[in-house]
Amino acid sequence: MSVISIQRFPEPQYLADNKEQWLAAFLRKRAVGPSVRPNSRQYGHKEIRSVLFSMSHGKCYYCERKLREEDGEVEHFVGVATEPELAFDWPNLYLSCRSCNQAKRRRTYAVNECLDPCNPDVPPEEHLTFDDEYVRPKNNSEAGRKTIQKYRLDRDELDHLRVKQLHRFERFLRMLQEKKRASGNPITKDELAQVARFGRPEHEFSLMFRVYLEALNA
Ligand SMILES: [Zn+2]
Repeated sequence: MSVISIQRFPEPQYLADNKEQWLAAFLRKRAVGPSVRPNSRQYGHKEIRSVLFSMSHGKCYYCERKLREEDGEVEHFVGVATEPELAFDWPNLYLSCRSCNQAKRRRTYAVNECLDPCNPDVPPEEHLTFDDEYVRPKNNSEAGRKTIQKYRLDRDELDHLRVKQLHRFERFLRMLQEKKRASGNPITKDELAQVARFGRPEHEFSLMFRVYLEALNA
């Protein structure tokens, strides 16, 4: 995503070694106090966070902004209030920036109504698009609209970061056009690859750039 398509790496050994014990302790406490949360120092341990961080090329799974590794928050895609058994379940651990994680806590929509960045069967580009830096549901997609609301992907902070990246992109395209005009030579393969780089998975806001690159190619 925003909602990027993320391919999950194998479960970190540290989680595999500890999860049963952690889960048993958490479920015991929860039986007494139903509002007890799992220990974030366990599921959010840096050895687990670091694998989640590599999986997304250092980006928040929801808004696609670049993170510093220590700022990434390990969180549960399906909330532990609904599914306590998934508190230490590897496929349920995601990495988020603080703002997306906070937006999510307002529980506007259940996760199964929204896009899942780790589900390769639901390409985000079929549900989300952009007008300039503003994210929109594509073709009135319900899942797209709910995802934008759930994670507040339309917040000012993101519009501001996206417009800065868009300006970089536009400056780069202008520079190529001017060079082409001045030299009379066509744009080289290498330069085209540099344009395409904006839409690569490791690039910040790659989904937005894919929308623009597609429009350029059309
Ligand atoms: Zn985010």
